[in-house]
Amino acid sequence: MDAKIDESYFASYSDIELHRTMIEDSVRTNAYQQAIFQNLDVSGKVVADVGCGTGILSMFCAQAGAKRVYAIEASKIAVHARQLVHANGLQDIITVLQGKAEEVELPEKVDVVVSEWMGYMLLYETMLPSVLYVRDKWLKPGGKMYPERAVLYMALGEAQWITKYEEGTYDFWVSLNHVYDLDMSLLADHAVSRYKDVVHVHMVAQEDVLSFPTAVCDLDLTTISVEALHKISCPFSLSSMGSRQLNSVVLWFDVFFPGGHKLSTSPDNEDTHWQNTVLPLATAPLRQDTQVSGQLTITQDLSNHRFLNVDLHYRVDGGDEITRTYKMDDNCN
Ligand code: SAH
Repeated sequence: MDAKIDESYFASYSDIELHRTMIEDSVRTNAYQQAIFQNLDVSGKVVADVGCGTGILSMFCAQAGAKRVYAIEASKIAVHARQLVHANGLQDIITVLQGKAEEVELPEKVDVVVSEWMGYMLLYETMLPSVLYVRDKWLKPGGKMYPERAVLYMALGEAQWITKYEEGTYDFWVSLNHVYDLDMSLLADHAVSRYKDVVHVHMVAQEDVLSFPTAVCDLDLTTISVEALHKISCPFSLSSMGSRQLNSVVLWFDVFFPGGHKLSTSPDNEDTHWQNTVLPLATAPLRQDTQVSGQLTITQDLSNHRFLNVDLHYRVDGGDEITRTYKMDDNCN
């Protein structure tokens, strides 16, 4: 089962366009480059790049003076990474190892583990366990992790595009009455609830974030265990700013590198290819300082470890508890 899942996962990463999307995301690529260039951790050291893709981070490490880099990649893009390493004359420093991070043998332990493993809502795709596996097996005691910390945030939101979708959907199904003299308006509720039951990956405008954020999890990547990632659960209490219509929970993440370098996917920052993650809610009016409190739980899906289940329990202003469950799978849009 897992082997089949991984086969299609790695097949998706054989696609050059996906690598273009990541490299084109200059917030992402520049953050890694700066962290690698501006710290001295890599200079003269041995590095493992977990999931090297095209090899870009390995080549940054070589430019930053790494002694040796083991560039590990399970998908077929590894073939191109190897060609690129040669084309850039870095073959004496970088060795591309085509295989799974859990299976490759390195000839030595490493001083630094570099990896760009983050998925939507930080944890989607579940690549982090592979990085932790390499950390535990190959990183020297006291070695560095790039990044070394990851924080997932949540806040209240009023996503305008959800409101627009709802309005447009009602307008459409109700308008059929005038066109065909048939009442099809029942389908509006069905369409809207279907739309609101899935996790959306979408940019949220800064002004549509209605509260300060709270951290869902704050992961120390130098110590966190794989088991701790199976279930992440956090109570929250968020206070609204202004009179608005709550219609979503918005999530985003930041990762931190040694030396204080940060890669942020916050709605306050420039857009990234991760965008923001949006959990639609039943619309509820908020006043200034209305409390929305509850519990958010993220678990790895048992039938597909790459997928996530998200459970949300919450109350608006101490009212009835509302429960929402979402699946983050290939259908999140
Ligand atoms: N480092 C590259 C690519 C990042 S995308 C860059 O920054 O542009 C993540 C990559 O990790 C993908 O190419 C994927 O195929 C690879 N990957 C994910 N899990 C892996 C594992 N367990 N073993 C080896 N490669 C893995």
